[in-house]
Amino acid sequence: MNKPQAASMYESEKKIYPREIGGRFDKLSKLATVTLLGLFYLAPWLQWDERQAILFDLPARKFYLLGLTLWPQDFPYLALLLIIAALSLFFFTALAGRLWCGFACPQTVWTEAFIWMEQFTEGTRSQRMKLDKAPWSLTKFRKKASKQFLWITFSMWTGFTFVGYFAPIRDLGIDIVALNVGGWTLFWGLFYGFATYGNAGYMREQVCKYMCPYARFQSAMFDKDTLIISYDERRGEPRGGRKRSVDPKKAGLGDCIDCQLCVQVCPTGIDIRQGLQYECIACAACIDACDSIMDKMNYPRGLVRYTTEHSLSNESTHVLRARMFVYATLLLILCGALVTSMTMRTPVILDVIRDRNSLYRELPNDIIENIYTLKIINQIDDARAFGLSVSGIEGISLDGVEDELLVGGGDVLSLPVRVRAQRESAYGVGEIIFRIEAVDDASVVMAEDSRFIGPTR
Ligand code: SF4
Ligand code: SF4
Repeated sequence: MNKPQAASMYESEKKIYPREIGGRFDKLSKLATVTLLGLFYLAPWLQWDERQAILFDLPARKFYLLGLTLWPQDFPYLALLLIIAALSLFFFTALAGRLWCGFACPQTVWTEAFIWMEQFTEGTRSQRMKLDKAPWSLTKFRKKASKQFLWITFSMWTGFTFVGYFAPIRDLGIDIVALNVGGWTLFWGLFYGFATYGNAGYMREQVCKYMCPYARFQSAMFDKDTLIISYDERRGEPRGGRKRSVDPKKAGLGDCIDCQLCVQVCPTGIDIRQGLQYECIACAACIDACDSIMDKMNYPRGLVRYTTEHSLSNESTHVLRARMFVYATLLLILCGALVTSMTMRTPVILDVIRDRNSLYRELPNDIIENIYTLKIINQIDDARAFGLSVSGIEGISLDGVEDELLVGGGDVLSLPVRVRAQRESAYGVGEIIFRIEAVDDASVVMAEDSRFIGPTR
């Protein structure tokens, strides 16, 4: 007797061929793509005072952002910036839904660029579908090879640009031409290039559907007043085909002519008429598609539109609501804190490390000596001279330290320092304070305390 065969539970992902559509939101999307990609590819080439304007120099542990140099000690600013970014995302999601996904997310932006290249080499949606079904021929090979050439070149340039944020991009370019690139640099360039190629060329909507965590939790930020893209079921149903001359009311039809254009343009392959779905990235292509049909049929636009659940059920929408105030207030407080702390930031850091090998040394004439290593970090781009002093114990002094300590722009001066005090003032453990002050600006001051150890009585 034949054993029953187990049915496969696996269904492979069907390739989506999004149809090209013009319109208001398509223009907006193209503008966002060109602007954001332009910023990404151009920013590392900008110069600021003879250095790269934006550079995350990991080996030197310095981040350059235009005129600002951030050090590991400035990590709280970075943390604050990330919190502000996350909170802004919450705020705009609650206000306008998945605006980020549809117009600004790197996955959307790069996929859009890759689709342009696909359209350029393989043609329109129907031409691409036909080409994929056709057997291999010289024409098919030429078109596919041209697409791959564009995709791979663009991906490699993307990988190069990405690494250019972490290593000076002009030197990197020279190293590549001279075939003199380090192993890690090559690895990260190829890794990022390959990730772009795979995600934007092949994975596309699957990244949004299966990999992006934001798609999963953002529904928690939605409420009935959040802006969503929706099909107006009350106006559209019952759907059905008809001639332009037919009056839908008399024919007992709604405004949807069931042309499927909104489905064909959707980059995630869903049907907006089935209601709000987590796969929808709010790209608004279906709005452009449906508006073009409404124009042809002489119906009012907006069968598919930006709206809210409240508006769809004829209730009033409240833009100003409690959660918006909470997000906005928190954002204002955090932005205020960031701006204030950045403007009040002293552009010098002083670290004091006490020599752990010896507690103290006894010198002739009843003098007690402690040894320290001072690290003076000059956070501005120009060299600066500092004066160093110590206080806290009567008669305490520095030995052999110059009056002015010159520290290069963005440099760290590591300075061994001998501090001396008379025995009668130095018994036990005393608190001392090191203080540096910029010679050219008395407001640039930094103090750091430490311990001075002397003999017991
Ligand atoms: S349903 Fe409309 S808005 Fe959502 S992803 Fe598809 S085309 Fe874009
Ligand atoms: S594009 Fe508009 S009219 Fe055509 S199927 Fe979609 S909702 Fe209906």
